[in-house]
Amino acid sequence: MPITPTSKIWMDGELVDWEKATVHVLTHSLHYGTGVFEGIRAYPVAGGTAVFRLREHIARLFGSAHLLDIRIPFSESTIFDAVKETVAASGLQECYIRPIAYLGYGEMGLNPLPCEVRVAIAVWPWGAYLGDDAARSGVRLKVSSWARLDPRTLPTAAKATGMYINSSLAKVEAVRAGYDEAIMTTTDGYLAEGTGENLFLVSGGSIVTPPSSAVGALAGITSNAVTTIARDLGYEVKEALLRRSDVYLADEAFLTGTAAEVVPIASVDDRQVGTGQPGPVTIAIQETYHAAVRGEVDRYKDWIERVS
Ligand code: PMP
Repeated sequence: MPITPTSKIWMDGELVDWEKATVHVLTHSLHYGTGVFEGIRAYPVAGGTAVFRLREHIARLFGSAHLLDIRIPFSESTIFDAVKETVAASGLQECYIRPIAYLGYGEMGLNPLPCEVRVAIAVWPWGAYLGDDAARSGVRLKVSSWARLDPRTLPTAAKATGMYINSSLAKVEAVRAGYDEAIMTTTDGYLAEGTGENLFLVSGGSIVTPPSSAVGALAGITSNAVTTIARDLGYEVKEALLRRSDVYLADEAFLTGTAAEVVPIASVDDRQVGTGQPGPVTIAIQETYHAAVRGEVDRYKDWIERVS
């Protein structure tokens, strides 16, 4: 999906014009994938705009930086405020937000410690990541031949730029084969996650998701919200190691992520999941999530951060 420019990008402490938010071609992170980033969304709420779970996203950004030994030269509260400032400057009621901390121009080589750390925050309008149809009718998935990164090779809890080569390879393989999205497994064959989404199965009325730390999946903030929502709706939610057959045989399955939101899975490897249509549990969770991000559910009011 092409990016629609907005007026300003926050860069290293100030808002600069969109076209001027550029970096040098010898930027360290461009060569070695040594950046950390976030994907956040802002939604329209009564009387304005609110960022969904901003505090958790900023905490994860700083956690990712810590895992890579990147020292962000701003406090969490500065970046928190900068996100709100950038959203406000865009004038958008609804947008995607991309903060990134990366190693800049000036040093090269695999020791990143001498590099200057730079931070940028961009926002732009971005519709449903897997398409509006996907949210309504479900996506067709393929189990990838690319295994998810093993936690012994990289800190998989980090949302780091270079790690997305793994997701990108799986995504391209799936799209070229005519599917919407890929599911990656661990090197031992346990289901891990989508290329940018966590995975949930519904079987016999209870909900199961793979344990992120064991399978090298990102600990999703949407997945956390969906777990709370599902429990509040009265469903049991547990973590368990899952095999490929578990998703083939599930009554329902869905993906969760900030960009994708809650997306039903219609089929995996051409095997229909359940009826092949979004199931009642998925729909109930999807509807509540949709309302929660828009500040329409009182018990989840703490999840929304108003932009003045
Ligand atoms: N897994 C991966 C690999 C991701 O990139 C994302 C998106 N950040 C997710 C899961 C879902 O995370 P979240 O719900 O926090 O967006």
